[in-house]
Amino acid sequence: VKAILPVPVRPQEVSQLAASFNELLTAINQNAEQEREFTSNAAHELRTPIAAIRSHVQLLERRSADHPEIIPRSIHFIGEESLRMQKLVDSLLTLSRADRGTLKLVSFDLTAIVHETIEEERAVLQQPLNVKVATGVQVFGNAESVQQILAAIMENAGKYSPADQPITIELTADTERVQLTIADLGIGITDEDKARIFDRFYRVDSARTREIGGTGLGLAIVAQLVKINQSDIQVMDNHPQGSQFIMTFPPTTSSVETAPK
Ligand code: ADP
Repeated sequence: VKAILPVPVRPQEVSQLAASFNELLTAINQNAEQEREFTSNAAHELRTPIAAIRSHVQLLERRSADHPEIIPRSIHFIGEESLRMQKLVDSLLTLSRADRGTLKLVSFDLTAIVHETIEEERAVLQQPLNVKVATGVQVFGNAESVQQILAAIMENAGKYSPADQPITIELTADTERVQLTIADLGIGITDEDKARIFDRFYRVDSARTREIGGTGLGLAIVAQLVKINQSDIQVMDNHPQGSQFIMTFPPTTSSVETAPK
């Protein structure tokens, strides 16, 4: 197109336009930077188990003929490290799906989902569970992802608290809101870390956390799924110790549910 038509504008409009353009550019740059950081973190996290697997394979190649006693230990390591890689890749895929934000939201029975998840987690958690769940609570969201959120937070509660300290799961509902709380009596989270634990790959830098192991992606996935469910999640101190995660659902539109067909 050759002809450029003059568009009459006021100087104020030009500066407003320039300001919004700059804002947009800053947002795009920040996004690109975050993507670069994410890819580099993911590559770094995958590199560690790959290096461990390769070194054990080399060890087996060089020494297993003369020293067959090393075989079981190396095979064990290779198994452990490949499991770690699998968990990481699974988490990355879940996160990428959640980023696309294409989940179907419908009204569902939250009480049933909470009980179902508790029964599944009871099998893997060592801690006793203290369950206070309101009956017949309906919310709007995606049941499968809510189950995933609850499982991830319960598993963290299990990882970061002693085996003999109970984990409390509480579901309350009134006309204002529906709240799902998971409280543990574990190591707790400092205020500084509370602001960062939902970041991708963030893990609290303490000896305890390093010892326990994890990817630092669990809560990042939770945050993304919570967003897709148009809900909210907060982390607070529990008393006398530990942490509690509180997920708040938007009020249920029960009139839609009960409307005659
Ligand atoms: P990870 O795989 O490391 O558990 P998450 O994203 O699930 O990754 O959690 C991020 C960090 O938040 C953890 O490394 C841990 O330091 C901290 N954290 C999460 N849940 C709890 C909890 N219930 N109590 C104490 N710290 C927790």
